[in-house]
Amino acid sequence: MISSIIQLILAFQSFHLLNGRIIDMTYTFNSDTYYWPGSKNFNRTVIFKGSTGKFWYYANEMEFAEHGGTHLDAPSHFYKDKWNVDDIPIERLIAPVYVIDIKSKAEKDSSALLETEDIQAFEKNNNVKIERKSIILMNSGWQERLGNKTLYFGNDKNNASDFHFPGFHPDAAEWLIKERDIVGIGVDTASVDHGPSSDFLTHVAISKGNVYGLENVANMDKIPKMGAKLTVLPMKIGKGSGGPVRILAEWDTQSGGADALNPLFMLSNLITIFLLVLFL
Ligand SMILES: [Zn+2]
Repeated sequence: MISSIIQLILAFQSFHLLNGRIIDMTYTFNSDTYYWPGSKNFNRTVIFKGSTGKFWYYANEMEFAEHGGTHLDAPSHFYKDKWNVDDIPIERLIAPVYVIDIKSKAEKDSSALLETEDIQAFEKNNNVKIERKSIILMNSGWQERLGNKTLYFGNDKNNASDFHFPGFHPDAAEWLIKERDIVGIGVDTASVDHGPSSDFLTHVAISKGNVYGLENVANMDKIPKMGAKLTVLPMKIGKGSGGPVRILAEWDTQSGGADALNPLFMLSNLITIFLLVLFL
């Protein structure tokens, strides 16, 4: 009886861990994927799908621009002779992540900027100093607008000179590079520069600092604001200025992160400890 209860609790815990520890921060690539105006959209063509008579066979061909959907901007995107996507050292592709929420600002201003003060406030409010070699994500709440291109980009004309969405202030990007030695920044919007930008100074700043950008990042609300680790795996395109990227967030629910405070999780831990002490 007791051992089956313990087994049940352990099963529940491992289920919980498996579900809470790893989150995919990548949108699926398909014909709905957003690209910058003038870029080639994602197009998948079925080459063969069916039985050959001897076996089942299925294969596609694809074409798409580098910069669309959940993707990485390599430093060479906005600065001459900086790293291409295949040059980025792999040590920089696995890094601690901090998520800075600017939703309240973005609700009032659809072209809101994540500023240096927001980062300093994040550090102060959480009593933390951003670790070196980290990735900083801006959570503006823009994921909710996905599926409505007008709301996501800020106009219905596919006109890049009249876009409205949040991004990083160039000064904030420079501060992060100089003061915190980060490896990457990321946004839940279409660009690390906010919509109205025409000089793309945030892109220039990160490229110059050999820092990569992540755009259209999914599920920022599902990961803890600190304590998680990102694995960032861009398609290894030779001499690419960027490309599709798979981003996974992973964290330890025992030692921190959002789930450590989940009452169910805490209760199951307490019951487990109690039963173990009592009967083993
Ligand atoms: Zn890009």
